[in-house]
Amino acid sequence: MLLTFIIIGVIPINIFANILLDNYEDKAISNKFNQMQEQTIMLANQMLPTGYLTLVEVPEIDAEINRIAEVFKGRIVIVNSNLNIVEDTYGLYDSNKYLVSKEVIQSFNGNSSKIYDKENNYLKLTNPITLTIEDNKAVVGAIVMNSSTKDIQSVLDSMEQRAIIFTLTITIFIFVFAIYFSSRLTRPLTSVVNSIDRLTEGYMGEEVSIKGYYEIEKISDSFNQMILRMQKIENTRQEFVSNVSHELKTPITSIKVLADSLIMQEDAPVELYREFLVDITEEIERENKIINDLLSLVKLDKTADDLNISSININDLLEQILKRLSPIAKKNNIELIYESFRPVMAEVDEVKLSLAISNLIENGIKYNTLDGWVRVSLNADHKYFFVKVSDSGIGIPEDAQDLIFERFYRVDKARSRETGGTGLGLAITKNIIQMHRGAIRIYSKAGEGTTFNVRIPLNYIA
Ligand code: ADP
Repeated sequence: MLLTFIIIGVIPINIFANILLDNYEDKAISNKFNQMQEQTIMLANQMLPTGYLTLVEVPEIDAEINRIAEVFKGRIVIVNSNLNIVEDTYGLYDSNKYLVSKEVIQSFNGNSSKIYDKENNYLKLTNPITLTIEDNKAVVGAIVMNSSTKDIQSVLDSMEQRAIIFTLTITIFIFVFAIYFSSRLTRPLTSVVNSIDRLTEGYMGEEVSIKGYYEIEKISDSFNQMILRMQKIENTRQEFVSNVSHELKTPITSIKVLADSLIMQEDAPVELYREFLVDITEEIERENKIINDLLSLVKLDKTADDLNISSININDLLEQILKRLSPIAKKNNIELIYESFRPVMAEVDEVKLSLAISNLIENGIKYNTLDGWVRVSLNADHKYFFVKVSDSGIGIPEDAQDLIFERFYRVDKARSRETGGTGLGLAITKNIIQMHRGAIRIYSKAGEGTTFNVRIPLNYIA
């Protein structure tokens, strides 16, 4: 972030300063060339009528040439048509010498030339001296004029210095601002990161309260919601583990009490042994049932999208279940009634759905009154099939209706135990129905009976 600030802030200023300096230099040089041009034209005009180029001594013109060379802090050399040097303000050459340079030759062709030597700080202008007689132009000489550009360079240097100072100041300013701003922006993020780290280390009581800009507050809110959800899951997990331990311990405690009391009685009769051993076997069976139910639940949780779906005749499925359960119903003197409103074919996991519906019907039988009934009915529309399991049983109090689907919840522990219940049946049923993208509803009144309505899509929705 710091880097971005600096790049965005400093680079444009640098480019801008460079463009400005280059512009100034171009303008100043072209101005200087223009002034030199004017001077050479003026000198040529003064020279031509005097015969100066034919080596006639004209001291006023010498003086003028020297003055101009002085003003431009440079050198002026005048050459005539024989390439003889007529005047050299540096006094290095006299009229016995010749000046033969590319620029001078060019000027005898009527072309002037401009050279800017930046390294050595000078400009060189070579201009032809043209004589016009009755529309005929002839080049009769050349003026080579040098001018120092040190004045321009020194202005440029000082401008450059100022630009550097300005850029540096801005850079420092942006740097300070960037440090302040980026730390302000990242501080809340750092505290979220710290909280996540603490959470990763296993500390669950974490909650962040960050006041900052809108987005960061959103992150903080989402984070807290996630923590709440994790805490809930953790609580449920702990509760489940403690319930499981408790449930698994109960039969074992009973077994131990039964075994201990036999050991304590030294001459216990064989009948007592037999009686206690029957009890112990029952407890072992119970333990076994709890473990089996738990395993089914865990398997359902683990393989949530591992349903073995096929197209099944639901009428047949229900008839099979009722047939299987009829001995238990007979034993409890309960009448099993089945009514189907139409033939139903649906895509379901046969084994799992069979377990889910069996649990409901078994409960109807278990929590019934003497000579009661359980009615199972099947109906369907174009999207769903509906299984209704009603009984004439003891019913479920209203405040318990939300809880009966929880693992290990039982309204009447003693009765559930008597009938071999584990408190896991409805949790398994609900799980299976949800895996089929279905729903289960309960209608019940204590003392009057219970109805479970199950709705499942005819076509499996993955
Ligand atoms: P359980 O193994 O105890 O039957 P379930 O999860 O199947 O466990 O049911 C939970 C509790 O809901 C039962 O203990 C019982 O108190 C109550 N319950 C379930 N079905 C019925 C019903 N048809 N009539 C009355 N109570 C019921």
